[in-house]
Amino acid sequence: MAQFKLLIDGRLEDGDSTMEVINPATEESVATCPRASKAQLDKAVAAAKAAFPAWRDTPIAERRAALVAMADVIQANAPELARLLTQEQGKPIDAATGEVYGASAFFRYFSTLDLPIKVLDDGPGRKVEVRRRALGVVGAIVPWNFPMILMAFKVPAALLAGNTVVLKPAATTPLSTLRFAELVKDMVPPGVLNVIADANDLGGALTAHPDVNKISFTGSTETGKKVMAGAADALKRITLELGGNDAAIVLGDVNPEVTAGKIFSAAFQNSGQVCIAVKRAYVHESIYDRVCDELAKLADAAVVGEGLQQGVQMGPLQNKMQYEKVLGVIEDARKTGKIIAGGVAPEGKGYFIRPTIVRDITDGTRLVDEEQFGPVLPVIKIRDGEDALARANASLYGLGGSIWSDDLDVAYDLAGRMESGTVWINKHAELDPGIPFGGAKSSGIGSELGEAGLAEFTQMQVINMAR
Ligand code: NAD
Repeated sequence: MAQFKLLIDGRLEDGDSTMEVINPATEESVATCPRASKAQLDKAVAAAKAAFPAWRDTPIAERRAALVAMADVIQANAPELARLLTQEQGKPIDAATGEVYGASAFFRYFSTLDLPIKVLDDGPGRKVEVRRRALGVVGAIVPWNFPMILMAFKVPAALLAGNTVVLKPAATTPLSTLRFAELVKDMVPPGVLNVIADANDLGGALTAHPDVNKISFTGSTETGKKVMAGAADALKRITLELGGNDAAIVLGDVNPEVTAGKIFSAAFQNSGQVCIAVKRAYVHESIYDRVCDELAKLADAAVVGEGLQQGVQMGPLQNKMQYEKVLGVIEDARKTGKIIAGGVAPEGKGYFIRPTIVRDITDGTRLVDEEQFGPVLPVIKIRDGEDALARANASLYGLGGSIWSDDLDVAYDLAGRMESGTVWINKHAELDPGIPFGGAKSSGIGSELGEAGLAEFTQMQVINMAR
C-alpha cells in the first residue's frame, strides 16, 4: 500500500505540511500528499550533493544495473502505478498503463547506453581524447500531463551519467511519482535520488539553488523563461522542453478519411494535453470538407468519461485552471470560427470538455496562434503546401510538426524547411527513447532522449597530452 512520502537521503519522510491531490474526473480527493518545505528541499539538495562523488565514481555497470532494477520494479507494479496515474491525472487507464510501461522501457533503454572515451588523436606527438564527466546535482522538474514518462526522460539519463537527482513532480500530479520513489528507494545509495512534492512553490528555489548544477525542465514556455533566468547567475546547465503549437500540413493527395483518423488521434490523445499534439491542422482546400466532416464524426463518437471506466477514450482536463483556460479559448473560437463538433462542457462534476472541432478559422485567432493544450482543434483551409508552411513557421513555437502527402518527395522537401525540432511525415507525435527530442525557437533549448539527450547530463572534457 502506497505511503506517499518524500524521499530524502534514502529515507521516506513526511512533508512539513500536506496538501490534497484532486481527481479531475470527480473533483474529490485521491489522497493527502506530503508537501515539502524549503528546508526539506535544501536537505534533499544537500543529500544529493553529498552522494555525488561516490555515485560518479561507481562503475557504470553498477549504475546500469540500478536502472534495470528500476525498470523491473516499474513494470512489476504497473497496474498500481497506472491506477494512481489515472486517478490523479485523469487519463484513461489503458493510456496510463501504456505510459507506465513506457517509463519502464525508457529506464531500460538508458541502461544500455555507455559514455565511452573518444580518442581523437593517438599519434606519436600527442594523445587527444574527449570524455564526458558527470555534472553533479540535477534538478528534474516535471509537468502534469505525463508525470511518469517525462520523469523517465530525465532520471535514468541523469543517473547513468553519474549525477545525483532531486526530482520534483507537478503539484497536481505527485502521487505516481512518490509511489515510484518508494518502490526504488533502496536501488541506489542514500541521496542519489531524492523526490520532493510541492504546491507549485519550490521550482524557483530548486532552480536557483547554489548546489544544483543542472536543471532539466519540462513545462510551459513562460515557466521555462523563469528557469533560464534563475539559472543564469551561476551559468547552470539547462535543458528546457517547453510548449508547442504543432502544425499538421495535409496536402490534397491523401485519403481524407484515413488521414483525419490519424490526425484525430494525434490531436486528442491525453485530451489534447500533449506538448506534441497536433494543435493546428492546415488542410488542402480540395479535401477540406471531407477532412472536417470525418474529424467531426470522430469527435461526436468519442467516449469521454472517468478514466477508470472501461471503454473511455478521453478523460477530463487535468486541473481546473487548464479547464477554464480551454473553455475560454473555445468561447473565443465560437466567434472566430465555426464549431462543428463538441464545444460543450458536460454538466456535473469533473473537468470534462467534449472533443471540439473548429472549421472556417484562420491564423490571427487565439485558437490557432496560442497553445490551447486541450481537446479543441482548429482546421485551417490552405491553397498549397508552401502557403501552409509559411503559416506553420510563423509561430514562436517550434516543437514538432508533420506533413501528410502520398508524394514522399514533396513531403520530405517541406519537412526539411519546417522550423521545428521534429518533423514527422504521414504520422505525428511518435516518440522513441533512442531518438533525440527537442524544440526549436520558444519550444526549448537542448534535447532529451537518445545519446544526445544523455550527453546533456554531462560536461565535455578534453584531455590533450604531449608525448
Ligand atoms: P508549468 O510550467 O506550469 O509547470 C511545470 C513544472 O514547473 C511544475 O513542476 C511546476 O511546479 C514547476 N514550476 C513552477 N514554477 C516554477 C519556477 N518558477 N521555476 C521552476 N519550476 C517551476 O507547466 P504545466 O502547466 O505543468 O505543463 C504544461 C506545459 O508543459 C505546456 O506548455 C506543455 O506544452 C509543456 N510540455 C512540454 C513538453 C516538452 O517536452 N516540450 C512536454 C510536456 C509538456
